[in-house]
Amino acid sequence: MKKIISGENITKQYGTGEEQRKVLDEVSVDIHEGEFVSVMGPSGSGKSTLLFALSGMDRIDWGLVTFEGRDLGILEEDELADLRRTEMGFVFQQPTLMKNLNILDNIILPSMRGNRRKVAAITDKAQQLMQKVGIAELAKRDITEASGGQLQRAGICRALMGSPRIIFGDEPTGALNLKAAEEIMDLLSGINEEGTAIMLVTHDATVAARTQRIMFMCDGRIVDEIRLPKYSGGTLEPRMNLITAKMR
Ligand code: ADP
Ligand code: MG
Repeated sequence: MKKIISGENITKQYGTGEEQRKVLDEVSVDIHEGEFVSVMGPSGSGKSTLLFALSGMDRIDWGLVTFEGRDLGILEEDELADLRRTEMGFVFQQPTLMKNLNILDNIILPSMRGNRRKVAAITDKAQQLMQKVGIAELAKRDITEASGGQLQRAGICRALMGSPRIIFGDEPTGALNLKAAEEIMDLLSGINEEGTAIMLVTHDATVAARTQRIMFMCDGRIVDEIRLPKYSGGTLEPRMNLITAKMR
């Protein structure tokens, strides 16, 4: 399978002098086309930092991150921003939405930058995506009228607007109840089935169990990894047992 993103010896440190510490310590990782991977590990182990490094949201201090062979470290800020907008999607624990805009406008807003003349096509695409994720009827609603799960669907719509090759999720189900979390995972699994690679950070073994490769981080390193066949429905228990055994 073709590599989309490759990280080699990624090192990131915070602080200076005595206080300096490596939050990522020579981490190497590849993400391939269409892969569905997750990252687990204790709080503070560097999971979010790794996600930010691989997606070019954060500069690294040492090592190399490439997106389809392009070295992110030598791109100008605007080239990097372009790459992120056209090739990557981001989903966080809670989507950052603007209270004074309706849900549709929140979804199209980031795509409108520099594209004002294409408003009809952009709106059309947003409406198709809202249909796909099951929130079509919420287009003109205020964000205060939507549930956490519905807002996360809106966040996923927004992430899909650029037709990304990969979606990065930092605890995308972390703020949701069990049922809403499961529905979001169904949605993400479907998106992955259609060919988009997904990389999730999660604390939740039921979430990780839906992925094909689970990386375990500790103190800024990837210390273990499980590879599983693609999940195709049915009980998650055997997959979860493998994961929780590693977590101990
Ligand atoms: P995780 O997502 O696994 O909980 P993070 O990647 O968020 O961990 O953080 C790893 C470590 O880096 C933590 O100890 C955190 O305090 C530290 N850290 C993260 N961001 C910063 C920052 N901007 N400045 C200083 N330290 C940071
Ligand atoms: Mg984190």
